[in-house]
Order: sequence, then structure tokens, then C-alpha cells
Amino acid sequence: MQIETLGKKCTGCGACAASCPAKCIVMKPDGEGFLYPEVGDDCLGCERCTKVCPVISHKKEEIKAPKTFAAYNKNDRERFCSSSGGIFILLAKSIIDDGGTAYGAALLEDMSVHHIRVSDTGELCRLQGSKYVQSIVDSHIYESVKKDLEAGRKVLFSGTPCQCAAMSRSVGENEGFFTASFICHGVPSPAVWREYVKMREEKENSRVINASFRDKRLGWEHFSMKTEFENGSVYTKPLEKDPYLRAFLRNLCLRESCYDCTFKGDGAYGGADILLSDLWGAVPGILPGKFDDKGLSAVYIMSERGDLLWESAKGGCISALADFSKVSDSNEAFRRSVIRPDARDVFIREISANTFEECVNKYAKTPLRTRLRRKAIDLSKKLKIYGFLKKLADR
Ligand SMILES: Cc1cc2nc3c(=O)[nH]c(=O)nc-3n(C[C@H](O)[C@H](O)[C@H](O)COP(=O)(O)OP(=O)(O)OC[C@H]3O[C@@H](n4cnc5c(N)ncnc54)[C@H](O)[C@@H]3O)c2cc1C
Ligand code: SF4
Ligand code: SF4
Ligand code: SF4
Repeated sequence: MQIETLGKKCTGCGACAASCPAKCIVMKPDGEGFLYPEVGDDCLGCERCTKVCPVISHKKEEIKAPKTFAAYNKNDRERFCSSSGGIFILLAKSIIDDGGTAYGAALLEDMSVHHIRVSDTGELCRLQGSKYVQSIVDSHIYESVKKDLEAGRKVLFSGTPCQCAAMSRSVGENEGFFTASFICHGVPSPAVWREYVKMREEKENSRVINASFRDKRLGWEHFSMKTEFENGSVYTKPLEKDPYLRAFLRNLCLRESCYDCTFKGDGAYGGADILLSDLWGAVPGILPGKFDDKGLSAVYIMSERGDLLWESAKGGCISALADFSKVSDSNEAFRRSVIRPDARDVFIREISANTFEECVNKYAKTPLRTRLRRKAIDLSKKLKIYGFLKKLADR
């Protein structure tokens, strides 16, 4: 069985387990909370798991520069609740308004992150916003997507490039199936996230009932972690002060496959019809006047189906055609995997609710240059000259 030899390249997508006719593959968490397949004794040797695996079957496509847009949602509320420009919710609404369903990552009551199915636009807020934890795509989600398509419903599946590649491969060619992915930094360990939640709960002596990893109250660029507690209190800290965001941004607790990602670079995003990302930097014509710091997206149209989806959703946003090379070059994660820090394993080994802050202080020191840059940004915002300086720098 080739899937057992994948080792660190396995992304934990679960497509193999969902495809197995003997139901003999179990997705089991390792010590870091990341799922890996384990094949049982009832294997029939049919090799379906090998054929569906997006890593084993991955092929780079011919390179074509995709049509690229800079865009943001016209609805300020929807934009505020999203991590970038609020484009995902517009894509999902256009599918649901047409009788379809949307699938994506949601925080459950126990603060774990799983993919769920949404068929009512009022529930889409559960999918909005980046959750910086690997989301679990259970076998029943693969079954549910196929059932929706068999029933003649359109489906939008959203997730990391590896998850979209896995679902596309499982579904096969189907004109009702659409995927929306994003440029992906990598996914952090569910076990590290659990310890963080435990630490917050112990400090507050109350259960965490909600979390936002990209709260925009201090602005989109200078985002914050926000956790809400059962006792009504709220914790918020900006990215350079919150220990979880610091560990994420310093790449200390990502899945092994993310340090050598198969699904990055020109021609590698095979499973995505539309790719979304943050768009740092002003684009002439799209944000006339002041930089508003509410979030801006890059939208890459990766297929004909992606074009159809974009056409049905773009009325909800302000958008302008942008230069693919310029936009993709400005986003490091488009083509390159992050570097695996030497301290990754020891950090994850030592981390616990009691040692969380101590471990982050020890292993995730923010470089002086970054600290100075952030101080300069904060000061220029206070002096209300940030937008002006940014425009100058982007020229
Ligand atoms: C783990 C992670 C890493 C990212 N890294 C980068 C990066 O390096 N550079 C960059 O430009 N953009 C990155 N993004 C994407 C970016 O933050 C926005 O999510 C994206 O631009 C869409 O923004 P939006 O405002 O249109 O919609 P939003 O409402 O912010 O997007 C919500 C969408 O994200 C999906 N999603 C949220 N969390 C997860 C998760 N854990 N696993 C799978 N899907 C999830 C939801 O299913 C939904 O489709 C990352 C996102 C995530 C989740
Ligand atoms: S070879 Fe077939 S039966 Fe065996 S684990 Fe893979 S899918 Fe299941
Ligand atoms: S990448 Fe996905 S399909 Fe391939 S072995 Fe890992 S979990 Fe299974
Ligand atoms: S970095 Fe690559 S392997 Fe990791 S979650 Fe993103 S797409 Fe998947």
C-alpha cells in the first residue's frame, strides 16, 4: 500500500479512508494531534486509496497565468467577519442561493476545527474567518458532498489546497462541483491549539465558547486573537503579543507536510477553481482615497468553473483586474513552503497549558527588525499618516 509509505508528505486529508471499500483505513492522531492513515488487516489490495491520494497522484499542470483580481466585499459587516476582503462568503452565497450547499472549516463547541456542511446562508458565518488549526475532513463529509451532487445540488467545497485537491480527486469530473481554496502558510497542530485553549480557560477560570484568529478590531494588518468565555469576559491580544499567533507565524507547530508542500507554486494548485489570498499593498483604482485597513483579497481564477463562480458572485464586491505576476510575487506563500525551524520538535514536546507562554518566549523570539517595523506602523496610525506612507511605499 503506497499510502503507508508517504510518511511526512501525507497531508491528513482522509480521502484514502473515505474511499476504502473495506472500511479498513482509520485516521489516527499522532502525538501532535495530526491525523495519519492506519491500514487494518481486512485490506483487499484494490489500490483505490492509492489512486485517490492527492499527493501520490499529484501532477503539475501546464503553467498559464490565471486571471487575477483585487477585490473586497461591499458589505462592511461581512468584510469585518472575514480574514481578508470577505470574498469567500460571496462565492458560498451564490451557490446556496442557487439551491446548493457549501462546505468549509468551522469551530465546534469543544473548540476543535472540523469541516461542516452549510445549506442556509444564515449559517455561513460559521465558515467565515481563518482558523489557524488543521481542520478535520471526516469520511462522512466526503459522502455528503457526493450525495449532494447526486441529488443535483451544486456544491462549493472550501479548504486548503491539499484538501481541495483531495475532494476534487474523490468527486471526479462533475459540473456542479466547485472549489475555493487559498494560498496557504500551513496548518498548526490541533494538540498545540488544545493546550492554548486550556491555558486561556485556566487563566480565566471559565470555558472558551468562541475564538477568532484574525479579529480586525485593531485593523486588518495588525490583527488579533480573540477568545470569548462562558462567564462573558473577552480576551484580545494583537499578533505580536498573543503566544498562539506568535508560534503560528514563526512556523513552530505546523504539520510536517507544510514544510515541503506539494500544492504550492505555478501549476501545482490543481484542485482549486478559485484561489483566494490576502492582498497586502494598495492596488491603484481599487481603493480610491484612503487605505481603510478593513481587508483586501487577491482572487485567482484557476479554471473555467472558477470563472463561472466568480461571474455569479462578483456583483457583491468592488473589484479590479490586477497583474498576476505582481500579485503572486508579493505573496511569499504562493510558491514557497515555510522553513522548518530547528526548534519545532522540542517546542511541541515541551508545550503544555502550564508552559505555553514560557515556551513561546523561549522559541519564538520576534526579530528586532520586525518589532521596530510594527512600532513604526502603530505610531504612524496614531498620527493618522499610515495610509499616506503606505501609498508612498507601494509606488
Ligand atoms: C491555515 C491558513 C493559512 C493561510 N495562509 C495564508 C497565507 O500564507 N497567505 C495568504 O495570503 N492567505 C492565507 N490564508 C488565507 C486567508 O487568510 C483568507 O482565508 C483567504 O484570503 C479568504 O479570505 P476571505 O476574506 O475571502 O474569506 P474568509 O471568510 O476569511 O475565509 C473563510 C474560508 O477559509 C476556510 N478556512 C478557514 N479556516 C480553515 C482551516 N483551518 N482549514 C481549511 N479551511 C479553512 C473556510 O472554510 C472558508 O472557506 C490562510 C488561511 C488559513 C485558514
Ligand atoms: S487497497 Fe483497497 S481495501 Fe486496501 S486499504 Fe486501500 S482502499 Fe482499502
Ligand atoms: S495524503 Fe490524504 S489520501 Fe494520501 S495518505 Fe495522507 S490522508 Fe490518505
Ligand atoms: S501548506 Fe500545503 S500541505 Fe500544508 S495545509 Fe497548506 S496546502 Fe496542505
